[in-house]
Amino acid sequence: MQRWIFALLIGLLGCWRNPAEAEPLPRVQAPLGEAQPIAPGFRPAPPLPQIQLNPPLPGLRRLVYLSNGHIEAAHGLLLVPQSERQPARLLSLAQQLVQRAFAARNSLAVVDVSLYQAEGYAGFGGPLPLLTASVPKARLEEFLRLRPENLGLYDHLWLNPNEPLPPTRRPSRLAETIPTYEGSPQELQEQQTLQETHRQKGPLRGSGLYYHGPPGSDKVALTFDDAVHPLYTPLLLDALGRAGIKATFFLIGRNAEAYPYFVRDLAQAGHELANHTYHHVRLVGLPEEVVRDELLSTNQLIERLTGQKVRFFRPPGGRYDAQVLRVARELGLTTAFWTDDPADFNNPGSNVIVSRTLRYLRPGGIILLHDNAQETLPALEKIVQKAQARGLTLTTLSNQAGW
Ligand SMILES: [Zn+2]
Repeated sequence: MQRWIFALLIGLLGCWRNPAEAEPLPRVQAPLGEAQPIAPGFRPAPPLPQIQLNPPLPGLRRLVYLSNGHIEAAHGLLLVPQSERQPARLLSLAQQLVQRAFAARNSLAVVDVSLYQAEGYAGFGGPLPLLTASVPKARLEEFLRLRPENLGLYDHLWLNPNEPLPPTRRPSRLAETIPTYEGSPQELQEQQTLQETHRQKGPLRGSGLYYHGPPGSDKVALTFDDAVHPLYTPLLLDALGRAGIKATFFLIGRNAEAYPYFVRDLAQAGHELANHTYHHVRLVGLPEEVVRDELLSTNQLIERLTGQKVRFFRPPGGRYDAQVLRVARELGLTTAFWTDDPADFNNPGSNVIVSRTLRYLRPGGIILLHDNAQETLPALEKIVQKAQARGLTLTTLSNQAGW
């Protein structure tokens, strides 16, 4: 199928799914690398298994768990009435939830909790949680001994210092299949020329763009978008550690803010941290100062948490234009895309994720996966094995670039 027809179909499907997200016309699309076929429709993720607490814990919205084939993690989401949002009460509720989750399921290695204010709770994109914590089994006793006056002793706990605010921008959960440049036909032509140059010669340092790694290299960049996440990140960290692989994680600023300890864990494990905007918003068409704020606030957050300077940025949905590229470059960021996208966010099944990824695996390529895609975890081990069997090394963008 012609790529533009393909893009049009995706665009139409997007409009059909959510009229509020319809794109202004006309738009031009720059095909990049091999755009992969999308999943047959947008499949919801298979429901995660739940842990039932008996008697039930009031306000517990869900308590789910998942294995990466080696360890099991659980995540409990608890809604707390505004009248109970004192630190002492929040800590006590978190401790009850963690303790009861471990008691109910002996095989859990880690229990993560997110406590939100019940009034105004709106899921992802809504107000940030009031308190979050991550508790490995070996640290359960330490966590249960915590008191409000010594919360700071536990490094995997975050207490929201602010009043919960309404979301400032509508987040997007986009089909991130094809990077789309929006601009004049002439600009589009320039982008296509640049992409082709990168493909043949590798990335041009200082261009502010990263479409392809050095083609003669045996290195393939492994990238995860939409990090961090209270259920998946610890499982992914564990899986990557077992495989001895370092990857680049594109962080959503608001998630990094609410789960700062996972950001530090990623950095300490040697992974590269990159910018995926603060609110996960589509940047094209936003005022320049909003684009700058989305990028700058996320850069500052990551640097404050880890001391790591942020080098790469990826626009949500792969939507970009001249303004987005210019603002990113002014902030010292290189805008990075991908060549290999199995559309894991569509939940096509882990075997499909493996086969799609392998189909386009190549020296200098860039794999796009998601930190929060359920079927990616079981796919990862096979992707790593097959890449190694082909003599390819999965690594971070910076390592691949050699910058
Ligand atoms: Zn994203």
